[in-house]
Amino acid sequence: MNNLNEQTQLDTAAETIAETLLKSLGAEFRSELAFPELTEDMIERLRGYGEQVPFPANATLYAHGDRKIDMFVVLEGEVDIFLPSAEGDAKIYVRHRKNNVTGEFNLLNSQGAVVEARTVFPSTLLRISRTQLRRLMRTEGDIANVIVAACIWRRIGILKAASSGVVLKGLHGDPKMMLLQRFFVRNNYPHRIVDVSVDERDNNSASLPVVVLSDGRSLRRPSVAQLADELGITELPDPEMICDVAVVGAGPAGLAAGVYAASEGLCTTVIEGIAPGGQAGASSKIENYLGFPAGISGQQLATRAQLQALKFGVQFAISREVIAIKQVNGIHKLTLQDGIQVCARTVVVASGARYRKLDLDNYVKYENCGLYYAATAMEAVLCRDQEVIVVGGGNSAGQASLYLSGVAKHVHHIVRGPSFAETMSQYLISRIKNSSHMTVYTQSEIVALEGDSSLRRVTWVNLNTGERTIRDISTVFVMIGAEPNTGWLFGTVRLDKKGFILTGNAAGFDNSPYATSMSGIYAVGDARANSVKRVASAVGEGSVVISYIHRYLADHRHEFSAQPNSTLAPLHSVAAATAGVNAQIVLHPSFPGA
Ligand SMILES: Cc1cc2nc3c(=O)[nH]c(=O)nc-3n(C[C@H](O)[C@H](O)[C@H](O)COP(=O)(O)OP(=O)(O)OC[C@H]3O[C@@H](n4cnc5c(N)ncnc54)[C@H](O)[C@@H]3O)c2cc1C
Repeated sequence: MNNLNEQTQLDTAAETIAETLLKSLGAEFRSELAFPELTEDMIERLRGYGEQVPFPANATLYAHGDRKIDMFVVLEGEVDIFLPSAEGDAKIYVRHRKNNVTGEFNLLNSQGAVVEARTVFPSTLLRISRTQLRRLMRTEGDIANVIVAACIWRRIGILKAASSGVVLKGLHGDPKMMLLQRFFVRNNYPHRIVDVSVDERDNNSASLPVVVLSDGRSLRRPSVAQLADELGITELPDPEMICDVAVVGAGPAGLAAGVYAASEGLCTTVIEGIAPGGQAGASSKIENYLGFPAGISGQQLATRAQLQALKFGVQFAISREVIAIKQVNGIHKLTLQDGIQVCARTVVVASGARYRKLDLDNYVKYENCGLYYAATAMEAVLCRDQEVIVVGGGNSAGQASLYLSGVAKHVHHIVRGPSFAETMSQYLISRIKNSSHMTVYTQSEIVALEGDSSLRRVTWVNLNTGERTIRDISTVFVMIGAEPNTGWLFGTVRLDKKGFILTGNAAGFDNSPYATSMSGIYAVGDARANSVKRVASAVGEGSVVISYIHRYLADHRHEFSAQPNSTLAPLHSVAAATAGVNAQIVLHPSFPGA
């Protein structure tokens, strides 16, 4: 066989593999959005942002794990995208041709690449750097939308192919296994699960779960931070930089603050301890968020919001929590776990809340091996055709019951109060009443949990009659409210008796409803005292607080990010006159003509 024939056969084989893989993703996979062909007009406009570069055949454009990769537009030639596989060999995910672009989700963030890109033939590519990509995202709206949609759909495809070469192997139902699985899912990181059943346990089971990386190394019982570092999910801020806004927490409130701040030209860092989404990320379906008549899962909402934030240039710092904050000469210094520092002119605290627990013996023993705080598809797998219990009278408990009633054999819903009327939305109450798969126990509470390594039996009692019910149930969803994640603020801003952050005029701080007792620090969402504990209100507060941040920065910097004819210009003149300085209007780099 001559070389040309050999090459043609290899190419055909590669195309077949890629096509088979894409077909396996199913009809709902939108390949036209995942792999768009840009129009000639778009290509012409893109030329202004990049540099035309010739590459030889088989040149690696970026490898698995590389960070801050550039985007490549195929002008001539072809580029193969490879997925590493757990078996060690790489398989072709897709072949990009003329007018296709490379890149997926981590084109927009600085996490390690989950795929590898290589030219097939000698090819001419338009190389667009990260800085230029950010610029084009701001100025070429139509192209930005095509790229963002492609990033989402490509990652969906990669997740479905479950082939990053990373395998999580562990005992079914083991709390540590669930924790790591949740970390993978919430960070949209492609992985494959190998469940070891009880019968398959052996002497090595004590060191499970294990994460086998694509280079063959194994991490036994890794911490979240260690796993994030190894997978390249960790993104850490530049310690030398002073950003305009540091947002603590990437739940709905923090993501909204990030999107609004960055879209309005502020240099923004969002710091998140685990994964974007917060409590909302644990919701199987949010049905009361405006604009989604069929509901949306919290995970989907969070992913979209994160992408939107990335599109506007938000820097994410993921996998380390903020543990302390102090103000030095008007600059806020935040300390993250492992001693990492972030400096910011203003801070938006959006650290939300975490689930409350039942006061029962054995409670800790059964956390994540019988007791759960979220009812998503992941937990639903454990309840198929089983009886389950949901505890709580709020909306999250109601949603969980309804969702689980579609999978479980029966849902026993336990609530302490006499009814749901004051704590749950009417639409949920009506649906619960109409379901034949649910029984509601009012004025009742769980009094005993029993089992071996996992929960097997639950006893609850009616507080009025003393009647006890004992059932062999191994899954309980505890949804009884939350406590604020504000321990790290202790001794800095003023908190109420329950630890929620006091803000606004009522508390006598500043002239903003979100101002805390410390100048330049604002609080939004569930962490704020008297907030409405809903996704929409968290998003609303996160968006609105940015206007107060602009005011604060204008008042404190004596330099305004404004165009010459902006309404801030006269304000600046007043500031300059009263301060007696010959201040000058400084144009922010994002404004045209700056
Ligand atoms: C299961 C469930 C279902 C729900 N369903 C609905 C619904 O359908 N509709 C509705 O309107 N509301 C719903 N809610 C309520 C809603 O999710 C919350 O009101 C909303 O998420 C609050 O957003 P937030 O951004 O203020 O805080 P959170 O969502 O709590 O997010 C806070 C984030 O901050 C991070 N964080 C905390 N401390 C630190 C730190 N020190 N450093 C760095 N990061 C930190 C956390 O990891 C988290 O990601 C539900 C809640 C739950 C638990």
